[in-house]
Amino acid sequence: MEKLFARLDDIYPELVDFRRDLHMYPELSHEEVETPKKIANYLSNLGLEVKTEVGGRGVVGILKGNHPGKTVALRADFDALPIQEENDVPYKSKVPGVMHACGHDLHTAGLLGVAKVLSENREKLHGTVVFLHQFAEEVIPGGAKFMIEDGCLDNVDVVYGTHVSSTQPLGQVGIREGDAMAAGDTFEIHISGKGGHAATPHLTVDPLVVGSQVLLNLQPIVSRQVDPLKPAVVTVATFQGGDSFNVIPGTARLAGTVRTFDENIRDHIEQSIKKIAKSTCEAFGATMEYKYVRGYPAVKNDPKETKRVEKIATSLFGSEKVKHLQAQMGMEDFAYYLQERPGTFFWVGGALEDEALVFPHHHPRFNINEKAMLTIGRIFIATVFDYLSKD
Ligand code: MN
Repeated sequence: MEKLFARLDDIYPELVDFRRDLHMYPELSHEEVETPKKIANYLSNLGLEVKTEVGGRGVVGILKGNHPGKTVALRADFDALPIQEENDVPYKSKVPGVMHACGHDLHTAGLLGVAKVLSENREKLHGTVVFLHQFAEEVIPGGAKFMIEDGCLDNVDVVYGTHVSSTQPLGQVGIREGDAMAAGDTFEIHISGKGGHAATPHLTVDPLVVGSQVLLNLQPIVSRQVDPLKPAVVTVATFQGGDSFNVIPGTARLAGTVRTFDENIRDHIEQSIKKIAKSTCEAFGATMEYKYVRGYPAVKNDPKETKRVEKIATSLFGSEKVKHLQAQMGMEDFAYYLQERPGTFFWVGGALEDEALVFPHHHPRFNINEKAMLTIGRIFIATVFDYLSKD
């Protein structure tokens, strides 16, 4: 294993170059054209079987070891965000308004490094490694679902994914068994009342007052209908209506997000918002239209595979570097892979040394310590061999 890690260290400058190239030319979700070409080209040069346009814009590389065995899939996402980069670095985004502000450029380059090292060691591999390079993770619907529908998990026994973290220290590995990231849905409530003069409210059905009641009446869903030991969020993030100081508008719009882990709670909240909004509107003589859109399901990490990564990370970096994380209310479409196969999604610290340069994900000054690619690479390589060496 040490030889493989040394080889990974050797090619590190090449991975940095690849990451910086992606960083300079980021592409938005579902609009990725050059990024998948670059990835496919790199994988082809390693002699891998490469499938392109998987589920749309995905790239899948298949590395067959010299010996028969099981199949391990490793996933990295490659889309960027609609953010104007404010970093002053030589590899700053050259695309106005588009930026790799979540580290997906680093995920991609790190996984390509793993592909390179493993491709040079086929004689040691008892089984197959599938490299899942996924488009469109940042938007709903994300690319994972489409890639799965297009067969990217065919013959795959287990799947691993990772996300770098700009705020966690370099070298730290975060794991979480079971519920790791929430299911995320969106809802919209369009309220129709009766507009009129602001000085004669009794002649109107004021949708702003009704909407205010709806907003407040939604609050007890989490506090009084959901088991306090089970996490849930109902947030109204948008309340629009009116455009004047002396006109009561005819309509108002509320929109927000729901985060859950439990499918029954998710179903309950979807129905409960509708019931409460409808009856509140009715009580005041308004009507409403309700739209609820399901986003990604919850990320549920397989206990056995999470323990495997924990054990590997502990042996590689020491137990002080391995952190048991709490579940997060953020979402990730890696959830779809885990609905189909066992596996785990873990976090890798990548904070920059200079604290003044540490910014959160999706920030115009987000940046990441590129050495996190070596942490990711080591874990992936060791996990592949650990999994394939079993029975
Ligand atoms: Mn991300």
